[in-house]
Amino acid sequence: MWLKGDTHLHTTASDGVLSREELLDACKKRGLDFVMVTDHNRHGVGEKSFYHKGMLVIPGEEVTQNGYGHMNIWGTGIPTMNGERPAGPEVYYDMAQKAHDAGATVSINHPFDKKFSWTVDLENFPADSYEIWNTVMHGDNMRAIDWWHGELLKGRRLPVVGGSDYHRDYAHITRLLAVPVTYVNAEENTEEAVLKAIREGRVFIANSPKSGQLMLTCGDKTIGDTVELAPDTAITLTVSKLKAGMRVEVFNNDELVYYHKAKVGAPHTAVLRDCKPGFVRAQIRYDYPALGKAIYKKAIAKIFPPDAGLPVPSFAWALTNPIWLTEKEETR
Ligand SMILES: [Zn+2]
Ligand SMILES: [Zn+2]
Repeated sequence: MWLKGDTHLHTTASDGVLSREELLDACKKRGLDFVMVTDHNRHGVGEKSFYHKGMLVIPGEEVTQNGYGHMNIWGTGIPTMNGERPAGPEVYYDMAQKAHDAGATVSINHPFDKKFSWTVDLENFPADSYEIWNTVMHGDNMRAIDWWHGELLKGRRLPVVGGSDYHRDYAHITRLLAVPVTYVNAEENTEEAVLKAIREGRVFIANSPKSGQLMLTCGDKTIGDTVELAPDTAITLTVSKLKAGMRVEVFNNDELVYYHKAKVGAPHTAVLRDCKPGFVRAQIRYDYPALGKAIYKKAIAKIFPPDAGLPVPSFAWALTNPIWLTEKEETR
């Protein structure tokens, strides 16, 4: 079943403004099925997963030191930094090892963030997933998505997630909770099943809980599954909600094999055939209108002045992890 959640949240245990109760109530109100609470170098919600008004709460911790990067650890029994910042890259390896020994899951956060980028070792670090979409969509996320696409082309199966990294709402930017939202195809709504689904890439990311769903299926297979190609293999793309002007793109490896620009707001579906071995992934993109671009440029000038003059890229509204395609084994 597809469950929606937020993988990256802060409380007053670190630098968030909501208490644990306030945060969990707000997440429940947003309609989430699961959350991971990931305070900086601390456990914000204890050691074990539990349910808050029916919503699964998975304990987490964001191992944080600026200059090295930020990494989330999710799961019962995760190791803790007890409020200390990691002294060097070796601490990240040590924490990842301890997390894996405890059966927990490790994810590298906002690797291309201009201020808090990952400098430890992106290619070889023993991560289970990568947060390529952190908070409101912006240029650093698009760089992360480009990097990920390049890794997929090298044949690496890297699962990706989104995380709102919620700390607080601001006067002019509100409703940041669960932006983006991460959908996970888990067998049941338990910590074990949700984390397993993430590690297996059974995930798509959408702008918010109200953005609708972006789905790829092939018979009874879906995102994260492997399909053995046959002459009649057909992959179905389903978009539950699309606004006018948005573009749907499907990549089969380095090739854009499907493109649709919405003239009106409506659901959309398509069937893709003749795919090549490798992967298929879908995304929705959009461009800000002129006013939105001006506001974005102003925000960037404030947050990261060196980027002030850069053109505003077109942004992702939703994206899927791949369906993997293999050649049919010869039978003789
Ligand atoms: Zn962070
Ligand atoms: Zn964070």
